[in-house]
Amino acid sequence: MNFNAGPAALPLAALERAREELLDFEGSGMSIMEHSHRGKVYEKVHDEATSLVAELLGTPLDAWDVLFVQGGASTAFAQIPMNFLGPGATADFVVTGAWGEKAFAEARTVKAIGGGEPRVAASTKRDDKSYVRVPRQDELALTGEGAAYVHVTSNETIHGVEYALGPETPFPKVEAPLIVDMSSDILGRRVDAAQFDVIYAGAQKNIGPSGVTIVALKKEMTARGRRDIPTVFQYRTVAENRSLYNTPPTFGIYLVRNTLGWMKAEGGVDAIEARNRKKAKAIYDAIDGSGGFYRCPVEPACRSIMNVVWRLPTPELEEAFVKEAAAEAMIGLKGHRAVGGIRASIYNAAELSWCEALASFMNDFAKRRG
Ligand code: PMP
Repeated sequence: MNFNAGPAALPLAALERAREELLDFEGSGMSIMEHSHRGKVYEKVHDEATSLVAELLGTPLDAWDVLFVQGGASTAFAQIPMNFLGPGATADFVVTGAWGEKAFAEARTVKAIGGGEPRVAASTKRDDKSYVRVPRQDELALTGEGAAYVHVTSNETIHGVEYALGPETPFPKVEAPLIVDMSSDILGRRVDAAQFDVIYAGAQKNIGPSGVTIVALKKEMTARGRRDIPTVFQYRTVAENRSLYNTPPTFGIYLVRNTLGWMKAEGGVDAIEARNRKKAKAIYDAIDGSGGFYRCPVEPACRSIMNVVWRLPTPELEEAFVKEAAAEAMIGLKGHRAVGGIRASIYNAAELSWCEALASFMNDFAKRRG
């Protein structure tokens, strides 16, 4: 039972398909990894992966560019301001955790080499440096229509804080283009893609292995990107070449195809979301039903359905919890080193039965040690 935060569990069906196809891909006598990225065999996989992202994410290819790039979301933290935050422009960052902080910090480095001005429009950081919620609309100090963009993180992976799980915590309403880091909840639930102008995410949590990053941009955004930065960093270049400007991570993209193919066969985003909510509920119920032995710091309306975080009364008990859980075949439960505690990452491929087993282990542990 793999509760790793990413790279994370992949659907067994996607891995089995890879095993079956590994040595002789579709009768070609070799693996997909060995095919040219310019050949017909690979191109079919590439196009299928692109179409699956577009279809499931709700970013139709007549209005959006859906790109596969490398370098992870961390590279996007730099590449987005390089493309869209030119001299004289302003971008607003809504910071709800460590990843939003990093995105903002990287935009500042771009400013130092000739970019525009990144501003923090809101931060929900508390005095003890923790984050437990997203801001309300009336807390946002936005530049308004003149801003180059507004940046948000839909799910803060370390803190377990997520937007728009219900009507109380919607994504910000903004006049400027809205850019979202969806690394840890992309396709984990249905969101209206139309409210965004750029959506980006590393694949390694919900939709594939590490090494592939998805960037979906409305075509107007792609066109708006700076032309005076190196060619390879312009999203325009990647878009004009259908993510084949240079050699893409072909095997990773192939595995994204397998993973999204599995998702579609499972009933698509709605079916996955229903299951994800059930998975999260099993664990939150164990926390809330523990009489205070387990404590989730996150405000209920922002409690992530992808990364469930909680504390035990002491660090020693937390250590014992992780150790005993591992003996029951549940791995990856140690909280991020920046915050401590426990974290269960329950992305799309994590099974409901694992979450139920974890909840039952939690009840038992609380009885014995509480
Ligand atoms: N943003 C979020 C929300 C993340 O969870 C992560 C990775 N944990 C990143 C960005 C950085 O991603 P990468 O390691 O792919 O650069």
